[in-house]
Amino acid sequence: MPVIQKSAVTSQTEPGRTSLDAVIVGAGFAGIYMLHRLRQLGLAARVLEAGDGVGGTWYWNRYPGARCDVLSMEYSYQFSPELQQEWAWSERYATQPEILRYANHVTDRFDLRRDIQFNTRVRAAVFDDASGRWAITTERGESITATYCVMATGCLSSTNRPQFKGLENFSGPIYHTGDWPHAGVDFSGQRVGIIGTGSSAIQSIPLIAEQAAHLHVFQRTASYSVPAQNGPLDLDSVKSIKADYAAYRARNWQQPFGVDFRTNPESALSVAVEERTREYEARWHYGSLGFLGAYGDLLVSGEANETAAEFIRDKIRSIVKDPALAEKLVPRQVVGCKRLCLDSGYYATFNRPNVTLVDVSTTPIEEITPHGLRVQDTEYTFDRLIFATGFDAMTGALEKIDIRGKGGLALKTKWAAGPRTYLGLATAGFPNLFTITGPGSPSVLSNMLPSIEQHVNWVSECIDYVHRRGVRTIEATEDAESQWVEHVNAVAHTTLYPNCNSWYLGANIPGKPRIFMPYLGVPPYVVKCKEVAARGYEGFALTV
Ligand code: FAD
Ligand code: NAP
Repeated sequence: MPVIQKSAVTSQTEPGRTSLDAVIVGAGFAGIYMLHRLRQLGLAARVLEAGDGVGGTWYWNRYPGARCDVLSMEYSYQFSPELQQEWAWSERYATQPEILRYANHVTDRFDLRRDIQFNTRVRAAVFDDASGRWAITTERGESITATYCVMATGCLSSTNRPQFKGLENFSGPIYHTGDWPHAGVDFSGQRVGIIGTGSSAIQSIPLIAEQAAHLHVFQRTASYSVPAQNGPLDLDSVKSIKADYAAYRARNWQQPFGVDFRTNPESALSVAVEERTREYEARWHYGSLGFLGAYGDLLVSGEANETAAEFIRDKIRSIVKDPALAEKLVPRQVVGCKRLCLDSGYYATFNRPNVTLVDVSTTPIEEITPHGLRVQDTEYTFDRLIFATGFDAMTGALEKIDIRGKGGLALKTKWAAGPRTYLGLATAGFPNLFTITGPGSPSVLSNMLPSIEQHVNWVSECIDYVHRRGVRTIEATEDAESQWVEHVNAVAHTTLYPNCNSWYLGANIPGKPRIFMPYLGVPPYVVKCKEVAARGYEGFALTV
């Protein structure tokens, strides 16, 4: 890797410094790897993190049952072959505590902690036209200037807390799955209400139901879920992956979502019903989001999609004993256009006598009361309330920071009609600002750890390139950005993804513009990023 000269503004790592080469916001997997790469370039960089530890998603989401839904062997870094060999996952799908231990291990193994400033929420990042530098201010009142600013703030880090009428009147504790108490919560003997039935709810409901005296589940949209078939990792398969980890990664990276979904390009409609059912059955028993890789047109053709949707619906009907209840749990939308979930005993939990499903699809929650909540004329009572209501995804964390580019342009203003980026990495008018897994990149529609690494590698190579050539600023051009935004949209509209009210579209947040935010297709995206760099950062304007 090329080493570049330290810039004149580089300061050493003593506390209290205010002038740096780079500020990185966020100490999740993206932020800590970014720090590692910038340090390797000889740059003075500091990570500012709101929490008091590393891990991001895995630091905040400590609800019962939280775990990854991409195989542990794939949901990990690959930048260090040694790290890859030495780390041993214990389960097929690792738990939140194990992933958090991994994030801490990586931080210490690469001696990153000393350049991470915890309990520091960034309030504003303002570009100064005169100096060509960023001024970053924190809620603690510090101000740091830097040549480069990297937003590693996460796509699912800004919680969505619907402002129900009467919320302030609830007499018991209220939790959000995305900001769970570190000490854990004991629900024994408690009556609990949970709002939401997305991935977080689907993971936590079976465990909360085992503990609580009673659990009320408030469902607005029923979700499709496939059993995780989780268990201890098979040591033989670990050995065979580790024998040539690089080849395993390379193979998976060629898949549409950058993950081993064993995607079959055939059409679901080209095979006999019996064969199709056998395939769905096999994938159901294997247990993976790769259920949707069964056929190449499941996310393109409504008719093909319906075959997979109906298979899952029948599974729900066979698991849930009360037929009327089963019908309430049966999703009606296209399968996959909201994220498919992976569960351990979710649907069967509704056979328990202490679990009640309340359908709020047509009669919304009207208000939170001191002892529960009200839907039409019925008040449901409980002692504790859980919001499993998700996130202001992809743009939320960025727009919470007052980011201002050239001429004082606010990012929020620029993105008022939806996020606009070039490759999800940069946005016109905001020189030397990079976003990791930003809107317009595969991001949440990929295995995120390899996507994070790909972005961090690209950004560090870009910084190395401009820094060595004495380039003062690098900025996406309006033209390149417009073409990319159009392309991201065009690709999405060749699929079924825009067909339902998903957070990919911003539809879960009242007033948020409906723009399909992630880019569909890891392999073509990676090729495009490489081409842009190889052509001297085509689509970017470089000033000296
Ligand atoms: P994050 O981990 O979100 O880290 C961002 C950090 O930035 C946070 O620590 C936050 O505190 C900090 N931050 C934000 N704003 C500020 C600010 N203004 N000032 C200072 N600090 C700030 N992806 C997968 O590919 N597979 C999975 O199985 C999977 N499971 C998931 C399970 C859950 C419950 C959730 C919520 C997400 C899951 N994801 C999964 C997506 C997951 O977010 C990514 O895989 C990955 O962890 C994101 O890392 P990151 O560093 O980009 O962002
Ligand atoms: P989510 O998928 O957005 O689910 C939020 C749930 O809350 C939905 O059921 C939603 O209903 C409901 N909701 C929101 N506002 C509501 C309101 N005002 N009234 C009633 N219901 C309301 O959020 P999430 O479950 O936290 O998951 C977010 C993403 O994080 C996932 O899609 C996934 O990418 C990631 N994740 C992954 C895992 C994993 O398995 N590894 C686990 C958790 C999270 P509607 O559907 O009707 O909007």
